[in-house]
Amino acid sequence: RKADIECKLVVLGSGPGGYSAAFRAADLGVDTVLVERYDSLGGVCLNVGCIPSKALLHAAAVIDEAAAMSAHGVSFGAPKIDLDKLRSFKTKVVGQLTGGLAGMARARKVRTVTGTGMFVSPHEMEVRTAEGTKLIRFEHAIIAAGSQSVKLPAFPWDDERVVDSTGALELKDVPKNLLVVGGGIIGLEMATVYSALGSAVTVVEFMDQLIPGADADLIKPLAKRLGGKLKGVHLKTKVVSAKATKKGIEVGYEGDSIPETTLFDRVLVAVGRSPNGGKIGADKAGVAVTERGFINVDTQMRTNVPHIYAIGDLVGQPMLAHKATHEAHVAAQAVAGLKSHFDARVIPSVAYTDPEIAWVGVTEREAKEKGLKVGVGKFPWAASGRAIGIDRTEGFTKLIFDEETHRIVGAGIVGVHAGDLISELALAIEMGSEAADIALTIHPHPTLGESVGMAAEVYEGTITDLY
Ligand code: FAD
Repeated sequence: RKADIECKLVVLGSGPGGYSAAFRAADLGVDTVLVERYDSLGGVCLNVGCIPSKALLHAAAVIDEAAAMSAHGVSFGAPKIDLDKLRSFKTKVVGQLTGGLAGMARARKVRTVTGTGMFVSPHEMEVRTAEGTKLIRFEHAIIAAGSQSVKLPAFPWDDERVVDSTGALELKDVPKNLLVVGGGIIGLEMATVYSALGSAVTVVEFMDQLIPGADADLIKPLAKRLGGKLKGVHLKTKVVSAKATKKGIEVGYEGDSIPETTLFDRVLVAVGRSPNGGKIGADKAGVAVTERGFINVDTQMRTNVPHIYAIGDLVGQPMLAHKATHEAHVAAQAVAGLKSHFDARVIPSVAYTDPEIAWVGVTEREAKEKGLKVGVGKFPWAASGRAIGIDRTEGFTKLIFDEETHRIVGAGIVGVHAGDLISELALAIEMGSEAADIALTIHPHPTLGESVGMAAEVYEGTITDLY
């Protein structure tokens, strides 16, 4: 059969992985086709993930800050929320970015095909489009088909009061009583938004800690603040049943901390994401997919089939946009014949909650598990002039050093803007910085970033009178 489209590279999926790969490849002179099932480019991150959630979290932060200022003599009164306008703001933010991608694709002569793509052979992909099926013949492929939220079977998914993160981001209304199942990053970000908008939010998490990937001490200030805002946070507890009734979604629990409320107007299930590797006809191309739907790759992002690469959420944890982008560049450069490979030491993680939690590299818990000899320098924000000035002293900055070399191996920050502060520490780890490099770097005063230099000084022993 004659191909409808011939190209050097086909990229399947247009999320941060897919569009970054397509753009980098095109910039390097590779004739590239980008296949996306939805009209809008940008994948989960731009359309229903990172970007809309941050637009709504901005509104939540303004509401909370305005309320907090009343204790210091500036009152704005109760917020009046025009949900249609807020939703339009979010939609506009998303549209600006996804529209920008379409323009960037055109500028690079990346051909986009809208439809669902499936491999039919190692060098062919069929795309089901609105105008019928198109056959693409390619020399190389980059699979960037991402992930989707896990839909626990205990929930009545055909009832519109049960939603995943995509449904929660639609912001149809503000439910009176919201249950968030899953105390990970996504669940807590949405809990923050809806609680600021006026919902009574209950969070249920089956592990013994919120955001289980981060060190426990980082969670404490967040848990304390959430405790004052949410209706309840219940650890070591599971939702085991959920039934749609006229009055609401009736749930049943098991565990150590059973909530009083069992009837909710809305239930958000945010218990993780599963990779889409098993849904793209990978077997027809000879690409191996694990039982869970992940695709294994080498450091050039090559699958077991050397001319087919895979990147982003479907190659493994952490499922984060900046990881996908970085892997995308590696794969595109390898396709273009460059000797590129993935050698980042660390990938930072951020929860955009209030306060934010950000961490990078080895955590204290991992160090303990692996028997690494580490030392910690911790600077409490109660001693930061800037944190005192903005009345947000609950945070701290923690640096983790290898005790033999004094090189930084990890860091964690909890506090407002922690996500904006963690990059310096990712760089420090990549550069193999020692505690002295960080302590002797002049940080501007008064900033929250100063706490990074101070934490290194605490480790070095040049600041001793904090506790
Ligand atoms: P995706 O973004 O999932 O893109 C895959 C694309 O492939 C999709 O557009 C999909 O439609 C398309 N596709 C799949 N199969 C086919 C097919 N057969 N044919 C055609 N097209 C197909 N990460 C962060 O780093 N920071 C954050 O703040 C953050 N916030 C998040 C908030 C939420 C609510 C969610 C759900 C996720 C968030 N993430 C965040 C995670 C982030 O969105 C993902 O890590 C990122 O989108 C992964 O990029 P990707 O390119 O691998 O895949």
